[in-house]
Amino acid sequence: MRITVQKFGGTSLANYEQRDRVCDIIQKTLESGSQTVVVVSAMGRKNDPYATDTLIQLVREVNPHPSAREMDLIMTCGEIISGVVLTAQLNTRGIPARFFTGEQAGIVTDDQFSDAHIKYINPKNILACLKEGLVPVVAGFQGKSENGELTTLGRGGSDTTASALGVALHAEVVEIFTDVEGVMTADPRIVENARLLDDITYNEVCQLARDGAKVIHPRAVEIAMQGGIPLRVRSTFSDSAGTLITHQNHRQQDAVCIIRDRLITGVTYTSNIAQIKVNISQLDDKKGMELKIFKTLADNGISIDFISVQPELIMFTVLPDDSARTISILKNLGLDPEVEMNCAKVAVVGAGMTGIPGVMARVVEALTDNNIPILQSGDSYTNIWCLVKREHMEQAVKALHDKFELGNS
Ligand code: ADP
Ligand code: MG
Repeated sequence: MRITVQKFGGTSLANYEQRDRVCDIIQKTLESGSQTVVVVSAMGRKNDPYATDTLIQLVREVNPHPSAREMDLIMTCGEIISGVVLTAQLNTRGIPARFFTGEQAGIVTDDQFSDAHIKYINPKNILACLKEGLVPVVAGFQGKSENGELTTLGRGGSDTTASALGVALHAEVVEIFTDVEGVMTADPRIVENARLLDDITYNEVCQLARDGAKVIHPRAVEIAMQGGIPLRVRSTFSDSAGTLITHQNHRQQDAVCIIRDRLITGVTYTSNIAQIKVNISQLDDKKGMELKIFKTLADNGISIDFISVQPELIMFTVLPDDSARTISILKNLGLDPEVEMNCAKVAVVGAGMTGIPGVMARVVEALTDNNIPILQSGDSYTNIWCLVKREHMEQAVKALHDKFELGNS
């Protein structure tokens, strides 16, 4: 029997009408002759009553620094609530379904609270449920460690649950249902003429996701890639085919294209970044200062990014929540750091850009033509990124998208 894994994001489950649409999709899949395993996120978005952010807020109001263990426990509740409600709604529609927590679905993780990795899955309960002719509905984003603790898989972790179940059940495809048409050349909330990518390689979408395109979790892509299971990102609210994610681009009907990845796949952004600059030119004893800075921050559990070390200037970024602590640690080292709180990273991403000249020139041109100062920049084989002020972020994303002619004309 064919198995399809179908994951529904928060906005697809927010209210009765939307869940009804989800029930339609599930029913259609069953009618097509495939079995389906459903994975759910928590209902709605920030400020909705049972959304994960709302549950977190409930605890933080009492204690701003709750323990990671208890936070994971409360964070597993959102998916349990939405899964139970969806199961009830499926049953009233005459679709027999049974709900499973991550633990009941056999998902075993490491013990890293709030960012656990799935170690393995024992799908026996899910297989038994399918055998009985029921639709298993599984709480995404959660598992149980070998020590018996409940864990969560990090933001977007329901995508990871879906991919991992897809691999464990040898699914034909894992479908990620969300509130946009599929993977696009940029976030359609920012870029009006962003284009839907009909197909994309695991490699390309993984780069987009790592660089901030939150339409799918990068770990979900890696798991599906390793297991060789195709992914499809599509909209709950339209019948469009969405984006197929596989090993190759299927640009022609019958022939399998063996072509390189696209030069530029898309433009991404990450908001909410603080930049720290430390000028060490005035110090008497500069020797080893870089190491001292990075080591002290690491010892204090502060994660840093976008590191740039020059002879007399050290720059890096931190999450805004860590900025006050970072500054005080640096001051204790006798330094005089500068902080730029409201920054954002914009990036052009393309697995095929390696060795192609002129990409950086076009990035700089796009931003300078729009009078957007570049605070810092960097590149890898698959991206070029620039740090800009948060207030310039949207404009920068649009300018880069236009410059590389990625949109619908
Ligand atoms: P879900 O709750 O369904 O998991 P998410 O909010 O996690 O939904 O992801 C979907 C959102 O991702 C879209 O609403 C869109 O704003 C955003 N997004 C960012 N970059 C892209 C992109 N390149 N293509 C499509 N959507 C994107
Ligand atoms: Mg998501």
